Amino acid sequence: MKIFDTHAHYDSRAFSEDREELLPYIHNGFDVMGETVSVGRIVNNGADMASSYRSLLLAEEHDYIYAAVGVHPDSAGELIFCPEGCEVQDDEDNASAIVTDASKEIVSASVTADAGDMVNRKIIPEEECRKNRDDLRVLASKDKVVAIGEIGLDYHWDVWPREIQKKAFEWQWSLAEETGLPVIIHSRDAAEDTLRMVKGFYTKLMPGKDGTVNAALTSKMSSSVKAVMHCYSYSVEHAAEYLKLGLMFGIGGVVTFKNAKKLNEVVDMLPLDHILLETDCPYMAPDPFRGKRNNSGYLTYVAEKIAQIKGLDVKQVYDTTWDNACRFFSMDQ
Ligand SMILES: [Zn+2]
Repeated sequence: MKIFDTHAHYDSRAFSEDREELLPYIHNGFDVMGETVSVGRIVNNGADMASSYRSLLLAEEHDYIYAAVGVHPDSAGELIFCPEGCEVQDDEDNASAIVTDASKEIVSASVTADAGDMVNRKIIPEEECRKNRDDLRVLASKDKVVAIGEIGLDYHWDVWPREIQKKAFEWQWSLAEETGLPVIIHSRDAAEDTLRMVKGFYTKLMPGKDGTVNAALTSKMSSSVKAVMHCYSYSVEHAAEYLKLGLMFGIGGVVTFKNAKKLNEVVDMLPLDHILLETDCPYMAPDPFRGKRNNSGYLTYVAEKIAQIKGLDVKQVYDTTWDNACRFFSMDQ
C-alpha cells in the first residue's frame, strides 16, 4: 500500500542528523500489521524563500519528492515591503544546513517601541522584496515544483502586519493563476478573513450576478486554481463553504488527538475524495507520538483514524487519498 504525504518539511533542521537514512526507509516500505506500506510520494513545502530553495533541492535529489514553493504569512515581509518591519525572532529553519541563502540581506535596526523599550526589528528592503518575487516566479517554473505553498494568513503569531500578510497571499494566489499550479493554504486564527479572501479570489475569476460565489459556478471554479486547506482546524460550517468552492482538505496527526472532536466531525462530513493525507512533519505527530518528531511513516495512524471515523476499510483511505493527491498535483497515478 502506498501513502502520499502532501505536506512535509524534510528540509527542517530536525532531520539533519538522519534525513538520508529515514527517507529511503519510509520510501522502500515498512511493515504495518503484516502489510507492507510505503511512502510513495512526498511534497516538501516551502515556508519562506530559503526553504523554498531547499525544497526544490530535496526534490531534485530524490525522484519521489516534489516541491511546493511559497512564503508563509510569518515571512510575508519577504515578498511585500513593510516599512516598519517585524520584530526579530529566532528562526531555526533559516539556519538549516542544506542551503544557506546568500541572497538574503536582512537589515536589522534598533528602533524605539511605543513603550520606550528598544526592540530589534527586521526590515527587508523594497528592492529585495521585488527580487524575491522574481525569484519565486522562477522557482515556480521548475519541473519538480508542483504547488505554491504554504501561503495564507496567520493571526496567531501576527509576525507581520495583517495587511502585509493579505497582500503576500493575494500576490502568490495570482502567481498560481499565472503558472496553473495549485495552492496550499495555511490559516491559523484567521477563519473569517481566510474564507472571505478565498471566496473573493474565485468571485473575481467567476463573478456571480450579485458579486457572490454560488453553487452553479463550482464546476467552472475547479478548472481554475485548485487549493487545499492545509491542517484544517476550523468549523464544520466553514468546511462546508470551502467544499462548495471545490477545495481539498489536508488531514494530519491532529485528527488522532483525544481533544479533536471538531476535526473528527469535519472528517465525517467530508467526502473521502476531498481529503489529502499530510504530516506537516517534523510537527504534528499523531497519537501515540504526540509532541515527538513526526515523519511520513506515521501517516498510517492518520489513515487508520480516518477509516475508523468514516467506517471504511483503511485500504480504501490509502487508495483514494493517493488518487486525490495525484489529481490535485496533476501527476500520473
Ligand atoms: Zn507546513
